[in-house]
Amino acid sequence: MFEKVLIANRGEVALRIHRACRELGIHTVAVHSTADADAMHVRLADEAVCIGPPPATDSYLNIPAILSAAEITNADAIHPGYGFLSENARFAEIVGEHGITFIGPTPEHIRMMGDKIAAKEAAKSLGIPCVPGSDGSVGNDTDAKRVAKEIGFPVLIKATAGGGGRGMKVANSEAELSEALSMARSEAGKAFGNDQVYMEKYLVTPRHIEVQVLGDSQGHVIHLGERDCSLQRRHQKILEETPSPALNAGDRDKIGDIVVRGLSKLGYLGAGTVEFLYENGKFYFIEMNTRVQVEHPITEAVTGIDIVREQIKIAAGAPLSYEQKDVTFHGHAIECRINAEDPKTFRASPGRVTDYHPPGGLGVRVDSALYAGYSVPPYYDSLIAKLIVHGPTRNECLMRLRRALEEFVIGGIDTTIDLHRKLVSNVDFVNGAYDVHWLERSMGSWR
Ligand code: ADP
Repeated sequence: MFEKVLIANRGEVALRIHRACRELGIHTVAVHSTADADAMHVRLADEAVCIGPPPATDSYLNIPAILSAAEITNADAIHPGYGFLSENARFAEIVGEHGITFIGPTPEHIRMMGDKIAAKEAAKSLGIPCVPGSDGSVGNDTDAKRVAKEIGFPVLIKATAGGGGRGMKVANSEAELSEALSMARSEAGKAFGNDQVYMEKYLVTPRHIEVQVLGDSQGHVIHLGERDCSLQRRHQKILEETPSPALNAGDRDKIGDIVVRGLSKLGYLGAGTVEFLYENGKFYFIEMNTRVQVEHPITEAVTGIDIVREQIKIAAGAPLSYEQKDVTFHGHAIECRINAEDPKTFRASPGRVTDYHPPGGLGVRVDSALYAGYSVPPYYDSLIAKLIVHGPTRNECLMRLRRALEEFVIGGIDTTIDLHRKLVSNVDFVNGAYDVHWLERSMGSWR
């Protein structure tokens, strides 16, 4: 097992990794920008190294500074968390070249899944069903028209290097195609430095259902069930739940088997998530994330499996602690992502937190790096807390969630707590009757 792990991240996920390390008896090294000198992850870690000024490109994405921090502290592994460098294949490679273990999949698999066209090709070859679309990238308007004729409108133009819902444009007819193509291309170029795009059939009422997997260096792959992440705004997840209200046990087993068989063939190492759209009883692969996800705690709640602990053990060469038959699902879990944002305009709301009172009690978990007196810096993602609630049934989980949201106090800044309070009382949500477009379609009428 490792003696010391450097956590190349900040905020709640840095704490999440620190906690897993501590329970395994591993020392931790925090890295931080000058803006985060007073951050909770810095306070909790055994050691801390400042790696640069506030902008992420100069600090949390600064590979030479992070490697120097690992070398001067003698860290034997680096956990990248999510975001920042977690899906940067070159970073994983460089870490390895320095004799340090990267806690995550192989650089080859990160690279393959980071390119959405290569990922879809891989999925197809592994027997995983995909959304109908272009074979490879779409070059020009003529190309786009030909593909649209084959798959039918509406179509979605997506960035090959995409992430975070950026670089996606819908075209409902041929008349909209050319503009959507150039807009997607320019957004992708600006966001990812790569303007390559591809096309998919735009599904009108899908749910977003993803399967959590773990693979070890002995070649075992297991799945930990699904998460329904259909509540989204601008293709970004707001609330997630498991099990999905839309799946039956047969569909769940079917998709779990398909994913496990596919990733076993690949020899996948570490934690990963295979994302699907689900419509009319059919699953369509959209992408794979080769890292731990924001919403992993709901899976931990229903399976009792510590996903970050498994990631660390797998990276240290240990076999998985569970076989598929050991994985059982208990009750229902929901996560609310709480952002420092105005709940009406969604404008970022950084600033000083004057009061902080997280909810507690049976079945309630709060993952957050906040404390009273802390100032949320304006430079990074606006996610400041995750409220995860577990109950024996969906109904009891919802009752507990409403109670927990009532208790939650974050003073001094605007947060999306109020949006969640309204959302969890909405009749469509209570009935589980929602798809990926529902939140944006309906929000105006109930907020
Ligand atoms: P990103 O990597 O940017 O998050 P994804 O491919 O994971 O992009 O898609 C994010 C979300 O965008 C999905 O959960 C879904 O809501 C929407 N989306 C993606 N592809 C389609 C599609 N073909 N039809 C309808 N909605 C889609």
